[in-house]
Amino acid sequence: MVTNKQLILNLKALVQEFEDNQSYLTELDTKIGDGDHGNNMKMGFTAIDFSVIEDSSITDIFKHVAMKLISTVGGASGPLYGTFFMEFAKATVTVEQIDISDYKVCLTAAIQGIQKRGGAKLGDKTLLDVLIPFTEELEKSSDLDLAKQVAQKKASETKEYVALKGRASYLNERSIGHMDPGCASMLILLEGII
Ligand code: ADP
Ligand code: MG
Repeated sequence: MVTNKQLILNLKALVQEFEDNQSYLTELDTKIGDGDHGNNMKMGFTAIDFSVIEDSSITDIFKHVAMKLISTVGGASGPLYGTFFMEFAKATVTVEQIDISDYKVCLTAAIQGIQKRGGAKLGDKTLLDVLIPFTEELEKSSDLDLAKQVAQKKASETKEYVALKGRASYLNERSIGHMDPGCASMLILLEGII
């Protein structure tokens, strides 16, 4: 069970994770994109103003994060991760503590929102290649550790995929051999907040 206070702590740790992983994510994006992914994630998450959300409800915390990501990140990932958090906000309007079943509802809504916005599907070598298998495993087993293991395996499997969406798709077959940067950041996000 995650309360609003715990969510704030988790988000603070997540901001630190994105600071620590800035160069790793940028390195991945340099291989198959334009090398800004680490910077985008760091900028978006460090824009969270914790003094504003200290006593907020869970839904308002998620909404604040969504707005910050949408308004500060220029790349494709800003609106997509913004959508992720906006769907979490919409799905937790009446929730005072988040449990596994709430997370399932949030994650399913996030997948739908991201697909509606970006038009990608499973196997296109995007952050959905981590988000969808993670959610499916959680639906199936309700086992968080197992879902995280599945997500890690899937992120590394994207090395073998050809990118079909976003900047990396300009490389066609040359995108093979490199992990999708969005999969790496989605892994960090899911490990940090779920
Ligand atoms: P940009 O591509 O604009 O430079 P980023 O580098 O921050 O933005 O983010 C790139 C990541 O965004 C990719 O690795 C991929 O996972 C994700 N992405 C790009 N386009 C889409 C899309 N249409 N649907 C889902 N994810 C996408
Ligand atoms: Mg980029």
